[in-house]
Amino acid sequence: MSALYLVPVGSVPENTWAWIENAVSEWFPLPIRRLAPVAIPERAYDARRGQYQSVEIMKTLAQDTPGDATRILGVTDVDLAIPMLSFLFGQAQLNGRIAVVSLCRLHQEFYGLPAEDDLLRERIVKEVLHEMGHTFGLVHCRDQKCVMSLATHIGLVDSKSQQYCSPCGLQLAEQVASLVGGV
Ligand SMILES: [Zn+2]
Ligand SMILES: [Zn+2]
Repeated sequence: MSALYLVPVGSVPENTWAWIENAVSEWFPLPIRRLAPVAIPERAYDARRGQYQSVEIMKTLAQDTPGDATRILGVTDVDLAIPMLSFLFGQAQLNGRIAVVSLCRLHQEFYGLPAEDDLLRERIVKEVLHEMGHTFGLVHCRDQKCVMSLATHIGLVDSKSQQYCSPCGLQLAEQVASLVGGV
């Protein structure tokens, strides 16, 4: 059966993997495997902005993927951006295989506040489910509680739930079932 691969891009805190694995295993009944970390590609670094180009990281994730990889989720601690946006919490190919989530702006410390593990876990779960949803064809949802709603700042991440709304959840379940069923 095809598998979902988790890939550290650069150094990622070890305690985050259990949160990520729990979240994806709840929604995606696929074998979940973690690959060895890949280095952050040098060409991704934008010295002018002090950020990393998300598209370059996604290209790196797409290289040398295991043959049975149906989805590749990269996780990184560096700050991601694309030319059009000042930052990204994550990015994914719509109906594709590759997604990446940045933990950088999910840490309270980024905002000059003390670390909060429970809050960090919730934010990571939301971002992981959001980007994985895109890879299964889900688009941004107008239900602000839905994990597929668009979050342009951390307040909007915090105000949404860790769940897909009913229509999104149904669509996701159909997509996942057709994958798992091999159709
Ligand atoms: Zn999105
Ligand atoms: Zn929704």
